[in-house]
Amino acid sequence: MARTTNISNYYIRIDPRTGYTSDPVAYAKAECEAMAAQIKRHVDDWKYVDVEQETEDVCEHCGGVWTEASQVFNGGCCQADEDAEKARLATLERAEN
Ligand SMILES: [Zn+2]
Repeated sequence: MARTTNISNYYIRIDPRTGYTSDPVAYAKAECEAMAAQIKRHVDDWKYVDVEQETEDVCEHCGGVWTEASQVFNGGCCQADEDAEKARLATLERAEN
């Protein structure tokens, strides 16, 4: 038996325009909220209209994309990540001894 992918539903995705701004995420949120209000006002027969958000995992130190399965070490993406991992491992070694 192998995994099979079935189409289980359809929905409409509307992406806002992107703006040249210092905070593109805040701009996108405001655009989406305005568009959702317009859809609710002008479109009939919808069951659910709301603004959803997407997230991404990043390094708390440098903001680089999180690429590792670990929750605490991002493979050494920056010196602070390396230093934190060394400190964490040293703490573990002390606890074992
Ligand atoms: Zn980093």
